[in-house]
Amino acid sequence: MAELERDIERYFVARVAQIGGRAYKFVSPSNRGVSDRVVCLPTGITAFVELKRPGGKLSPLQRQFAAQMAALHQEYKCLWSKQEVDSWVDSWGAEIHGYDSPLLLRNR
Ligand SMILES: [Mg+2]
Repeated sequence: MAELERDIERYFVARVAQIGGRAYKFVSPSNRGVSDRVVCLPTGITAFVELKRPGGKLSPLQRQFAAQMAALHQEYKCLWSKQEVDSWVDSWGAEIHGYDSPLLLRNR
């Protein structure tokens, strides 16, 4: 069955929690196009993450937000599948806890 964006988003929130972070829903009144989530990682890094179903498209406002984040040197990422969620979270998890961290291994 095709992956739905809301399932990918739910999965993302759970995976971020597994590495000790929080993925807050991001709603900014009068700023349509902001990312779905603002993610606080235990290293002090904050990331703006947009979730899409595989094959989904960024709207013009979402592309504009991505460009603004790039111009501001912010950590921004669009993830298009649970597999991409896994690689993004795993790479941050490895940086935070180390590749052989019991926390990472326990949660897989
Ligand atoms: Mg989205």
